[in-house]
Amino acid sequence: MIKKVLEFEFDLIVVGAGSGGLAAAKRAASYGAKVAIIEVNKIGGTCVIRGCVPKKLMVYAAKSKKNMDSSEGYGLKNKGISFESNILLKNVKEEVSRLSYIHRNALNKLNVTIFEGLGRFKTQNELEIICPKTKKILNKISSKKILISVGGKPKKLNIPGEEFAWTSDDIFELDTFPDTILIVGGGYIACEFASIFRNLGTEVTQLIRGQSLLNGFDEDLSSCLEESTAFNGINLISRNQLNSIKRVNGNLESTLCSGDKILTNNILIATGREPNLLPLNLDFLNLKMDGSYLEVDELNRTSNANIFAVGDIINKPNLTPVAIEQGRVFSDNFFNHKKRKVNYEYIPKAVFTIPEISTVGLSEKRAREIYSEENIKIFKCKFTPMSNTFKNDKSKCMLKIVVNKLTDKVLGCHMFGETSSEIIQMVSISLNAGITKKDFDITMALHPTISEEFVTMYS
Ligand code: NDP
Repeated sequence: MIKKVLEFEFDLIVVGAGSGGLAAAKRAASYGAKVAIIEVNKIGGTCVIRGCVPKKLMVYAAKSKKNMDSSEGYGLKNKGISFESNILLKNVKEEVSRLSYIHRNALNKLNVTIFEGLGRFKTQNELEIICPKTKKILNKISSKKILISVGGKPKKLNIPGEEFAWTSDDIFELDTFPDTILIVGGGYIACEFASIFRNLGTEVTQLIRGQSLLNGFDEDLSSCLEESTAFNGINLISRNQLNSIKRVNGNLESTLCSGDKILTNNILIATGREPNLLPLNLDFLNLKMDGSYLEVDELNRTSNANIFAVGDIINKPNLTPVAIEQGRVFSDNFFNHKKRKVNYEYIPKAVFTIPEISTVGLSEKRAREIYSEENIKIFKCKFTPMSNTFKNDKSKCMLKIVVNKLTDKVLGCHMFGETSSEIIQMVSISLNAGITKKDFDITMALHPTISEEFVTMYS
């Protein structure tokens, strides 16, 4: 009997043209695979369209304003600097469109077929492309392998009036900034937007349910940020929660669990993100889940051998470079016979507040839990950076090294201060290479810099 060979139109269908999906599609196509990519929004995904890139452009605006406002001591008289948010927001939108177009062009050059619409599984090898407005089926395509890279969406609080509040996605659609805003949450998005808005002149109230900002980060980083947020004039309300939202004369009235009421122009809810899997119609495939995430093995394969997943839909650090690497490793392995794995060790992280927070490796608390209290040694310094000498902004920077006393190995480096993300990116190379504190000590300092303190901290 002749065995029927299944024929598919594509070698790979990628669902979602964000950082992970684009990286996988481009890499697989570069090896000669026939690739299709499905996207319902602009090409680029969270990072390019409504995340890292437009946010960082806003951070640059906020930093510039803050510098101008506080540099009179350097002889720079800047009386009356005005910020016109419409100009910034228009330029950010144009830049996002330009970058999206560049990604589209790159896909075209590699002969990746782009399907615009919502991808929905029909069988384990077939997807329908649905028009999000009419719900009509626009196309049906099949492939041997399917990579899901649809990313995340903002988590809901499920409180009355939540529909009046913004999520971070909405910020990038604005034409102007509000005069007053309530920001709910104390994580990456909440802190970054609190800092952007505040430094650009919006009156900001930030509401957190716990005691401190940025839980999970080294506690010294959180406290440095809190001191600086207070300095920047953010009204931080802790140990309280949002109960409901009501429209009052064009503004929004928030009622907190304590019964207190806050009236602001707008509200931003930034209480985490979750995988955006629902539109995919995955139920009939019975894929194994890891909480709300898709479960995958080391090769990013789901419990169905033909279906793979990368990015914010799997339970790994939800960060752009991680998704890109997952996508590239997937295509290297399955379209170029390589045997690669993603290195999840020492992933550097930054929160782009002003000043920014950056970190790599273990926090002091986590290191003490893993290696026991007496085996950990901490090196730490906190000082006013020279750049603030003639500024009225006297906020301090902080550098910290967490060391294993028994092996002298550096387990974590943490920094609060301007350009700390640029510094920690480079420090992460040395941690990956297994650096010891002695290696830091024998390295010559570069003076005068902030980062020289990393190689001059002695016990
Ligand atoms: P985070 O997980 O960073 O923070 C969520 C915040 O919301 C926490 O403060 C949490 O409080 C709070 N929270 C959660 N649930 C509730 C609730 N029901 N009521 C009140 N507060 C609540 O999420 P973000 O939305 O800020 O960011 C999502 C992800 O996006 C990040 O984890 C990160 O992976 C990525 N990201 C990365 C950036 C970067 O690299 N610079 C920038 C922006 C996003 P608690 O601490 O008490 O749990």
